Amino acid sequence: MEISNYYQIKKKLPLNVNLLAVSKGFSSQEIKIINNEGQNDFGESKFQEAIEKQYLLKDFKNIKWHFIGRVQSNKIRKIVQNFDYIHSVDSYEKLLKISNVSIEEKKNPLIMLQVKFSDDPNKGGFNTELLLEKWDHIKQLNSVKISGLMTINPKGLSSKENFKLFKKCRTLADSLNLYDCSMGMSGDWEEALEAGSTWLRLGSKIFGKRSY
Ligand SMILES: *Cc1c(COP(=O)(O)O)cnc(C)c1O
Repeated sequence: MEISNYYQIKKKLPLNVNLLAVSKGFSSQEIKIINNEGQNDFGESKFQEAIEKQYLLKDFKNIKWHFIGRVQSNKIRKIVQNFDYIHSVDSYEKLLKISNVSIEEKKNPLIMLQVKFSDDPNKGGFNTELLLEKWDHIKQLNSVKISGLMTINPKGLSSKENFKLFKKCRTLADSLNLYDCSMGMSGDWEEALEAGSTWLRLGSKIFGKRSY
């Protein structure tokens, strides 16, 4: 890992844009190194892998854990117990369950709703129409705090196409009065930043090549 990569990106970010260090595929040792440079937000997408690292890092109290992977219904309780943020809530049913479990567990994870702006069968997420249709119900769930939307662009788009999809996310979030847009990965973060991302989710750009 090159710490200089981390600082190069940090330097380019305005104060209102957060950097989520996506540590999936990287070790607790690597997390410690950049935590030591002041990075507190870490994202994981595989539940079991995340739990193992959280255990190894349990004394690092300033770390905030973000779940960014597919939320499986049978893991919701454990995700609510162990993560400060959930970026990837992709259905109303799961949101409802998160809401109920959060009350039972007396937890208050910050939620982002995953939206898809292209027909990518491999990606989950609300489509815009469904989200708008459910929005009144969603707003009534006052036990969950929804801070924004999250999106993952398909691979292989041009810079212009990436920007366009990210802008759709920003526009939809604004129309719902939501502050956060979790968007931008190592290959498209500059377009996401330009389009109004508030959470860039960067893995390989910070840590180097992942083993899987
Ligand atoms: C892996 C992952 C990232 C980071 O990917 P990189 O290309 O390594 O930056 C971001 N978001 C999600 C949802 C991921 O699963």
